Amino acid sequence: MLDRPKTIRQRKTSLVAGGAGFVGSHLCDRLLADGHRVLCVDSYLTSTPDNIRPLGNHPNFRLIEQDICTPLVIEEAVDEIYNLACPASPPLYQADPFHTMMTSVVGTGTLLQLAARHGARFLQASTSEVYGDPLEHPQREDYWGNVNCTGPRACYDEGKRAAEALCFDSLRLGQVDARVVRIFNTYGPRMQPDDGRIVSNLIVQALRNEPLTIYGDGSQTRSFCYVSDLVEGLRRLMAVDPNPGMPVNIGNPGEFTILELAEMVLDRLPTASRIVHRPLPKDDPQRRRPDISRAQSVLGWAPQVSLAEGLPVTIDWFRTAIKASRRRAQS
Ligand code: NAD
Ligand code: UDP
Repeated sequence: MLDRPKTIRQRKTSLVAGGAGFVGSHLCDRLLADGHRVLCVDSYLTSTPDNIRPLGNHPNFRLIEQDICTPLVIEEAVDEIYNLACPASPPLYQADPFHTMMTSVVGTGTLLQLAARHGARFLQASTSEVYGDPLEHPQREDYWGNVNCTGPRACYDEGKRAAEALCFDSLRLGQVDARVVRIFNTYGPRMQPDDGRIVSNLIVQALRNEPLTIYGDGSQTRSFCYVSDLVEGLRRLMAVDPNPGMPVNIGNPGEFTILELAEMVLDRLPTASRIVHRPLPKDDPQRRRPDISRAQSVLGWAPQVSLAEGLPVTIDWFRTAIKASRRRAQS
């Protein structure tokens, strides 16, 4: 319940579902650095143990290898639950659409019940995809969106919309102190090289001297947030009092066409790669940029890392990761 008194313990315990993933592993690092105990729940559906391997021996870190759609019993006290568990890349979430939808609906329901039992705060990782192919630009949180509920992206978009509904019902019923963040495209070290998202695809293709694949004519836009800025936003939304009681966009309002992004990668990475065009996937959103006024006023949050700053760091990370995997393959 919302007002359940807590025993005073020195260290907060945070459960991070999806904690082995790209964003989740950075969040685990940050929580440990902030002095929390971290329970990471992950099935490795779209990640590997690599991202959290360095945390394996940390005394305040514990991994629970489990799918969030299955019942979860945690004996120890839990203060906060971050639900990041869900495939985020379109090819990966479309690979098993039924399971993607179940992860957002059944999985979020399971974690909300766990939060209610523990009196834990809850933060749901929602997405700019709840706006679908938006008819309003930039996207404010009070825009209800333009989602095709029968298309190939629906398993993700509609699953996340249902998860938001579960969170706000839990809040209205006084069962869980639930918060919802709508995350816009985020990039940085530890994205899976082969997960099919635009930033990882372009960098990996350029590093391998392969063609840079642009879907459609490349005039569609996205706004790219560096991962440390997102993690700061997640921490602030979890901590803020009182609960804003409404979703909060977190993203970088800098808006780039996909062709501009490809040119930025080519400018920063010597490569023999050239751009090739491939068909635009169905229902691919044409424009996307967050209105972040709410994050600024409620959380005092604004992004600190521009794409020009974050891209070289990400390129360096992929260069090292690819070299290491080549070395492993040869030995
Ligand atoms: P990711 O694929 O790297 O991480 C997701 C993690 O969740 C993986 O470790 C995966 O194994 C795990 N997972 C998936 N389904 C699971 C299940 N049923 N049970 C247990 N674990 C499961 O993706 P990410 O980019 O780190 O995204 C994290 C969250 O943020 C996701 O919920 C995603 O929808 C949301 N989000 C991300 C972005 C972005 O640009 N990165 C944008 C919008 C929303
Ligand atoms: N995209 C592309 N080439 C790729 C991968 C993606 O042109 O190799 C495009 C994709 O069609 C979309 C944009 O880049 O317009 C962002 O795609 P991503 O999958 O990263 O994220 P999302 O579509 O979910 O925002």
